[in-house]
Order: sequence, then C-alpha cells, then structure tokens
Amino acid sequence: MRIQLLGTGGYYPNDKRHTACYLLAEAGIVLDAGTATYRLPALTRDEHQDVFLTHAHLDHVFGLTFLLVPILNQQYRRVTVHGTQQTIDAIQNFLFQDVLFPVDPPFQCEVIPPTGEMVIRDQYRVRWQPLPSHPGGSTAFRIERFGEGVAPSSFAYVTDTRVDGSYVDFIREVDLLIHECYFPDDKEGLAELTGHSIARDVANVAREANVGRLIAIHVDPQSNEEDPIGLEGMRATFANTELAVDQMDVDIP
Ligand SMILES: [Zn+2]
Ligand SMILES: [Zn+2]
Repeated sequence: MRIQLLGTGGYYPNDKRHTACYLLAEAGIVLDAGTATYRLPALTRDEHQDVFLTHAHLDHVFGLTFLLVPILNQQYRRVTVHGTQQTIDAIQNFLFQDVLFPVDPPFQCEVIPPTGEMVIRDQYRVRWQPLPSHPGGSTAFRIERFGEGVAPSSFAYVTDTRVDGSYVDFIREVDLLIHECYFPDDKEGLAELTGHSIARDVANVAREANVGRLIAIHVDPQSNEEDPIGLEGMRATFANTELAVDQMDVDIP
C-alpha cells in the first residue's frame, strides 16, 4: 500500500505544512480534509472517493470546500463523506451554511456510529473507534488490506488526542502508525489543556503497541524548526520514528 501524506501539520498551514489530508489512492480512501485537500484532484483519477473524517475541527474539514469544482467538473462522480453524527451535523449546518459557502457540494454524507467497520472495494477493511480525550472528541482509524493473492498490510491514523491506553489494542501491530505529535516533551501542560500529544507519549504508545513504523504528524505550526518534536528522544524509545513532511509517499508491504 502507498499512503500519500498530503498535509501533515496541525491547526493552520504554514510555509512547511498544510493541514490534515492523507490519501490511499488505490482504494479511493481519503483521511481528513484539511487545507492540503487542494492537492487531491491532481492525484486521484477514480470517480469515487470515500472521505473519512476524524472530527469537525476546521484543520480537518475546511478542504471539503475545495472539492466543489472537481465534482462539478465531473472528475468525481461520487464523493462520500463519512463522519460521526456530530461531525456530519457540523459540516452541514456550519461549514456549508450558505452565508459561509454559497453552493452545497453534492457530497453524499454518511453517518458512521462511534465504533464500527466497513469494507471498501472488497479489499480494504476500515475500522474506527472514538478518541475521547480531545475537546469534542476525535476518531481513530485502522485500515487493513486483505484478500487472496494480496500481501496483508495495515496502518492506523490517530490524530487529535492525548495518548492513553484506550487504543493500544486497536493499533496493535499495524505496519505503520501515523500519529499526531503536536508538542515536544516540555509542553505537557499545554498538551493537556488542548487535548494533544507530547512526543515521549507517542513514542511510548508505538512501542507498547508493537507497530512496525511510526510517522509523527499534526505538529505545532508555530514551530518552524526542522525538528519541532525532538526526534532523537523519540527514537531512543522507538527507533523506527520519522517526522512527516508534506507530499511524502509511504510504502508499506
Ligand atoms: Zn487538528
Ligand atoms: Zn482537533
């Protein structure tokens, strides 16, 4: 599987990173629709895209508005937006309120229960469960490829959460964990206040869940340093750790 990291920053775009959007093109699966969503139409040829949203904060949904023109141009015959009831309600009632955005894009919105799973294109199992520690909550996703004659592989996408034990089993032994890492270790207080993760905890959860590889995303856009999270410290706990950059392609078996 090739996962394309289109937007890897948190909160707002800066000169280095746009906000959340991740693409599994072979399955037509998009995870979150932040400002990097403008990169999607150049990379997707399929007529049908399934967009799964973690929650409705603007850095994860604002880019839904960018899909209007590709849909009107018939690049996509169908775009299905999957989110919890709270997320879908927020999009329909606020983001696409006509004073903010005057044309209602012809998405198909599908409410998903807080915990569940579905199969996309007969080969990709998408599972999800709630992440309660972020204000308003978020949703963790795990995607597994399965079927005859294909190598099984899996990845998990966990963003906008504190690290806690509630999802260790959910992400256990994935080939790739894409996990938020908004703050370095010395910002514990801020992380607790805002419902985000610090680097040390992210490395620990990767080790505890015995994942194959960790890619840190959703870093603080206020920091313009090359390494805003302290990669060396994380690697002391979990060696196979990288920091995401926009438009990075990640291949897993
Ligand atoms: Zn966010
Ligand atoms: Zn958020």
